[in-house]
Amino acid sequence: MSTNIIPDLAAYEVWFLTGSQGLYGEDTLRQVAEQSRQIAEALQASSDIPVTVVWKPVLTDSEAIRRVVLEANSNDRTIGLIAWMHTFSPAKMWITGLDLLRKPLLHLHTQANVELPWSEIDMDFMNLNQAAHGDREFGYIETRLGIVRKTVVGHVSNPAVTARIGNWSRAAAGWAAVHELKLARFGDNMRYVAVTEGDKTEAELRFGVQVNTWGVNDLVEAVDAASESDVDGLVAEYEDLYAVVPELRRGGDRHESLRYGARIELGLRSFLEAGDFGAFTTSFEDLGGLRQLPGLAVQRLMADGYGFGAEGDWKTAVLIRAAKVMGAGLPGGASLMEDYTYNLVPGEEVILGAHMLEVCPTLTTAKPSLEIHPLGIGGREDPVRLVFDTDAGPGIVVALSDLRDRFRLTANVVDVVDLPHPLPKLPVARALWKPRPDFATSAAAWLTAGAAHHTVMSTAIGLEVVEDFAAIAKSELVVIDEHTVLRDFGRELRWNQAYYRLAQGL
Ligand code: MN
Repeated sequence: MSTNIIPDLAAYEVWFLTGSQGLYGEDTLRQVAEQSRQIAEALQASSDIPVTVVWKPVLTDSEAIRRVVLEANSNDRTIGLIAWMHTFSPAKMWITGLDLLRKPLLHLHTQANVELPWSEIDMDFMNLNQAAHGDREFGYIETRLGIVRKTVVGHVSNPAVTARIGNWSRAAAGWAAVHELKLARFGDNMRYVAVTEGDKTEAELRFGVQVNTWGVNDLVEAVDAASESDVDGLVAEYEDLYAVVPELRRGGDRHESLRYGARIELGLRSFLEAGDFGAFTTSFEDLGGLRQLPGLAVQRLMADGYGFGAEGDWKTAVLIRAAKVMGAGLPGGASLMEDYTYNLVPGEEVILGAHMLEVCPTLTTAKPSLEIHPLGIGGREDPVRLVFDTDAGPGIVVALSDLRDRFRLTANVVDVVDLPHPLPKLPVARALWKPRPDFATSAAAWLTAGAAHHTVMSTAIGLEVVEDFAAIAKSELVVIDEHTVLRDFGRELRWNQAYYRLAQGL
């Protein structure tokens, strides 16, 4: 009954381009083609790289380069290019092509051989294997043209190399996904809240996402239209998947509330599918004819790959959708998260994160419990929700704030930890984490950066994917991790203030 909208990343293509020139003659170019094909095949075979790597014929002149870039730009499946100069490819040949490029670029600085053939090496070998300076020529023109790219250095048999390429390919997939993302807001953002505001027009230019608003009663119509038999089917699925409390089970006192929760899910899903939306927001201040604040439905839709923001927070919904795509196929998950409250016992400082209801069950491998509890906020009937603890392990929280002249991404590397004590009276899903480098530095840096109180928490992707995504987006990213020193962090923010204004031109 539920449809997962996380794409199979193998459906996305990254094209492998090899630069050379006609000067070398056919025999050398045939070897260049053979060896570059082997490298592309090694990348394709690597389990670190989830996308499909497509080898393209060796490029030896400007027209062929221009042509392949235009083809990549216009092909929806193609999410990026990897370029390698096997030999020396005079870089003026690349000016027109690189200037036209609209897709993410990775510069792979590699070579066919690992070890120098010490006793055999001659000038033919030197002539064929000269990426060491061929790629320097290419790097020069990339830098001179201001081309944003990721540079990866090393032999493709080195797992550190394929891991870095894999992370970039995930970021490129996230970039493609936000460019095809349509986001439905049900109602506006929460009254008087600042950080959930933002420039939706600028967001479409910078990230490609379309953000538009619908009256919540358009959703209510879809909820009311759900059939009793579909509700029956979904309730059976809930009883199968979750530890449903007895009062919500069939025959239980409050079973009707679960049925209404199922009805919200069916209505939301049909509305999102009909409009081809990949993300949405709700607002507890604007529930129209909805009898419950959507909790369970939102949790399950997030688990199926939808981006979500509470209180009209469309920026966090975009991040969650991107994280869902970038983390496709990896263990762990991604969810809306909110820093809620702290344990401030010296030496035991931790952040308890949760939300009113809407935390995604992909953060746990345990069976969530499906419960019903009162909710003071929103003024509706008690909502049904999944309750669970987030699995311990490494994670990252990322926020997006609108600083008027630009968007700022802020990322904090964290360690999700087990609860030291059970929380029997807390009726929502939660996560407990230690932020790096330490609680006080992390929180001070976060506040200084003006980062939001809503985040995407991912336990699937690491910092490098977020860094690559920000680079592709040409978006500011400030990182709080084990290397963060407050004094330097404050300086970085001040410098960025100048840099990002200058970089945008007039
Ligand atoms: Mn909130």
